[in-house]
Amino acid sequence: MARKIEPDCRQCRREGRKLFLKGERCTTKKCAMERRPVNPGQHGASRKRVTEYGLQLREKQKVKRMYGILEKQFRKYYEEAVRTKGVTGENMLSLIERRLDNVVYRMGIGASRAECRQIVNHGQIQVNGKTVSIASYIVKPGDVISIKENKRDLEMFKALKGMKLVTPKWVEFDTETLSGKILANPQREDIDSDIKEQLIVEFYSR
Ligand code: SF4
Repeated sequence: MARKIEPDCRQCRREGRKLFLKGERCTTKKCAMERRPVNPGQHGASRKRVTEYGLQLREKQKVKRMYGILEKQFRKYYEEAVRTKGVTGENMLSLIERRLDNVVYRMGIGASRAECRQIVNHGQIQVNGKTVSIASYIVKPGDVISIKENKRDLEMFKALKGMKLVTPKWVEFDTETLSGKILANPQREDIDSDIKEQLIVEFYSR
């Protein structure tokens, strides 16, 4: 299966912003965007003229990298968003945001989306009492997301007990019962305001 090959911190430098791909390290002084916030490569620090196409491409790459999604699947989200009633860009972001790996991340179960994807892939998460090991599974309001009973003794899950986690308003997670719920579909204001989804729509509709 095709996978990303560029190191995480290099991806942030390429996009010129923190993508928070490495969990706790991203909020420390060790973060590469704190130490060297320029494009990677020999001429990274020099200014380049960016075309309209370049802006659209970079925006798409940025979001793909933030969520750890490959091109083929990312395009599918766009195509589904076009078929759905409403604003295409917002539909696309809402779909991506409802991926199970992202929901586990938003609930605060793991420190990064990559870690949460691994938690899901390893069959440690249940949706409505059934194990789901597909990171791209799309959740819906009312779904109950929980950590599988026989995995709750793992150190990473025991550490969550009693923690005060900050979650967006469309999800909730109880660190005592290690279970949470999807309260609503995410709205545009619940998603990273720095994303310019219109540029991505323009890129795909060229
Ligand atoms: Fe990006 Fe995190 Fe690396 Fe900083 S530490 S450059 S936010 S992946």
